[in-house]
Amino acid sequence: MLAETTYNYSKLEDIQADIRSGVLKLEDLVTFYLDRIQQLADLNAYLEVFGEEALAQAKEIQKKIDNGTAGKLAGMVIGLKDNISYKGHRLSASSKILDGYVAIYSSTVVERVLAEDAIIIGRLNCDEFAMGASNETSYFGPVKNFADTTKVSGGSSGGSAVAVQAHLCLASLGSDTGGSIRQPAAFCGVVGLKPTYARVSRYGIVAYASSFDQVGPITRSVEDAALLLEVIAGKDNYDSTSAIEPVPAYSTLLSNSSKRKIAYIEETLHSEGLDPEIKQNIEAQIQLLRSQGHTVEPVSFEYLDYVVATYYILTTAEASSNLARYDGVHFGYRSDSSTDLISTYKFSRSEGFGDEVKRRIMLGTFVLSAGYYDAYYSRAQKIRRLIKEKTEHILEDYDFILTPTTPTPAFNIGEQPTDPVVMYLADIFTVGASLAGLPAISLPSGINKDGLPLGMQIIGKRFGEADLLSFSKYYSELDKK
Ligand code: GLN
Repeated sequence: MLAETTYNYSKLEDIQADIRSGVLKLEDLVTFYLDRIQQLADLNAYLEVFGEEALAQAKEIQKKIDNGTAGKLAGMVIGLKDNISYKGHRLSASSKILDGYVAIYSSTVVERVLAEDAIIIGRLNCDEFAMGASNETSYFGPVKNFADTTKVSGGSSGGSAVAVQAHLCLASLGSDTGGSIRQPAAFCGVVGLKPTYARVSRYGIVAYASSFDQVGPITRSVEDAALLLEVIAGKDNYDSTSAIEPVPAYSTLLSNSSKRKIAYIEETLHSEGLDPEIKQNIEAQIQLLRSQGHTVEPVSFEYLDYVVATYYILTTAEASSNLARYDGVHFGYRSDSSTDLISTYKFSRSEGFGDEVKRRIMLGTFVLSAGYYDAYYSRAQKIRRLIKEKTEHILEDYDFILTPTTPTPAFNIGEQPTDPVVMYLADIFTVGASLAGLPAISLPSGINKDGLPLGMQIIGKRFGEADLLSFSKYYSELDKK
């Protein structure tokens, strides 16, 4: 039997109102989450819970709320995907190779949420080095979907999605390289936003593919996603790729209800392997938006068949370089069989990395190798440019692009086929926005006949998060029945 939800808050505003009126004490809310995390430990969402620390923070922040000095996120209890550094706390990226590693500094996103009085309650399970789409590559085992515990959570930010879905925290931070926020959000019926590339600092995030990685919020409401983004976004001197573009106060810009021009990619609805119920669901959303006076038109995107291959060539290439630092010397795990430098590298990496991570390091090394660089890596870079230009071209005529977030609903744990390419195809609708560096959000769009959540993805213009979020809020309030 599932644990009872005493506090089923879906947005921070309601928590803050109840604290102000004295109906709720922040410490009681934290205690509730801590108890519930324990009761639902079988979901495997948390790798570690910072219980005492969270309670101590709650006391401090309650005082600040009482005397009117609290920050914007006071009352927000959040979980962190375990690839986000938090000084003095373990950091594993769900890998054996980071065994025992403690973060020596905090990521910029952590500094920023703490400065606004968020409470960080624990570290969340994910695919190993954020490589995966089901959370099954985690060294610490899969995360179970709270809607049906025989199903995967999605990945790689599986713990981040399930923690929010199951009320094990109000919100979480995930990271998205090719869909890792949006896809688990869709599988779990919550909101997941991948910001424009460079909108959020990557300082202190375990690097997977640096020209794609972005941190973003997973929440129950669009309002909380907007608020969290406004706190974590913006220039950071520790990440030279972070954009100087000013950060709008997203949470105050949510009321734009103008009629929009929206494109949907025709090929996505005819794509092989698209679940019929998802197709129906997206067609229903298109009709719903049209009935509300929006223009929703099909457009053609001839590169859909190339996005997955392009993504996997480029991200594995970047990963093979980024993961070279785990050598058995600098971080975490060192093999007991090490006798000299070379055997330390070989044994530590062979024993420390899981199969999927090794596969990607090898693939990335291959596509970068002298004889194959031109055929794979440099060609993929050119195709990335074409994909980016074509997507931006569509967005010159339309406000947004709409697609299903995923081709299927959450699948069975353990169903993972032996052919990894089948799993890679699960990313077909999310990697496009990643290749183009554009912001994209997954919003709950209903449930299927088995009660599994479905998600719709909306892609926005570069740095167009304010518009994307205000439309998302509008859409999330429409009656989907
Ligand atoms: N499933 C994709 C991959 O395995 C996306 C992962 C991510 O966004 N971190 O690469």
